[in-house]
Amino acid sequence: MRSPERSRTARVNARPPGGARCENVSNNPKKIRGKGMAQPSDLEDRFRGALLGTMVGDALGMPLEGWTSHRIRREVGEVRDMLDGRLERGSFTDDTQMAAALAEALLAAEDPSRPDPGRIAEWFARLYDPTRGYGENTGKLLEAIRGGEPWQRALETHTIPGGSFANGAAMRVAPAALAGHPSPEAVLRLADLQAEATGHTHPEARFGARFQALAVLEGLRSPRGSEAQQPVAFLAKLIPTPTDALGWAEIPVAFRSAFDWLLRYPEATGDEVERRIGNGVRAASSVPAALWAVLRSPSDPEEVLVRAVSLGGDTDSIAAMAGAIAGALNGASRFPGRWVEALEEGPWGRSRLLDLADELYRRNRGATGSADVVPMGTT
Ligand SMILES: [Mg+2]
Repeated sequence: MRSPERSRTARVNARPPGGARCENVSNNPKKIRGKGMAQPSDLEDRFRGALLGTMVGDALGMPLEGWTSHRIRREVGEVRDMLDGRLERGSFTDDTQMAAALAEALLAAEDPSRPDPGRIAEWFARLYDPTRGYGENTGKLLEAIRGGEPWQRALETHTIPGGSFANGAAMRVAPAALAGHPSPEAVLRLADLQAEATGHTHPEARFGARFQALAVLEGLRSPRGSEAQQPVAFLAKLIPTPTDALGWAEIPVAFRSAFDWLLRYPEATGDEVERRIGNGVRAASSVPAALWAVLRSPSDPEEVLVRAVSLGGDTDSIAAMAGAIAGALNGASRFPGRWVEALEEGPWGRSRLLDLADELYRRNRGATGSADVVPMGTT
């Protein structure tokens, strides 16, 4: 999620701070995990997939942010490899950095069922790096907090009255789904609190974060591969009805019409999605656009991300969200090795993100490793 003026930021090919890459790696979960360690379970691989998918999608979309789909087709063609952009190939942006900060905040929370949004904001501020391309207001908010301004006062000064309607709270929300798993109520509460942290309180931004979090949760809970045959059924499970936790009446109109259109045209092309749903930073465009990319090929994470990036617009955030859902559905081991190998390392790079997924998994399963699931949001 970035403001239009940031899309015109001069390209920087220099490696960002802490951006050293790790060599000789693979998307083989055993190798990612470390020599001699046990193969992750299916659910652990999916936890990792939700965070790795955020990063892979973010990095794949990074060079094309702000481009139209037409320009992508004309100048690059189908995007199947990591490319250099304003950052070096494989670099992540604010989407991944904020997801990492959210994971850290959820793990550090005194009360995991109700983390303090001010504390979450402090974690966002701690990891803040302006070269990653933050939205203008979010950047100002995090700079103020880093400068010592109390969260509540910084929020009053630096956020839009009525709240932002952008996708900032949705693009980073995957850790909330991991922490709250398997309880939808816990996931929704965590999604709300992290949205509040940065003033993403406009109904569309809030709903976008809630919906994206539930989509990741549904991915974690869905049998592997079953959705490939039934994309409409997967969508139907996600779209709220009057009896669901979200409640149909709570759905902002722009989301209702996007969902309605996706249900009627599950085979829609990218051009049609760009025209009818949009590809911009507005949550009501980019969240359903990411979902479309997943629904077209739910069991194939590579195709999901190629489609997500092809839409143009807010490519890094659309692909980060699509990647989080596809990763939860299929697991980290299903992303192409050439993409995973290209990902940036460093303090909050690929390895740290996978560690955070593992820590959330262990917390979620209980310290004893018992099969009984203890969602953080309900303890
Ligand atoms: Mg970004």
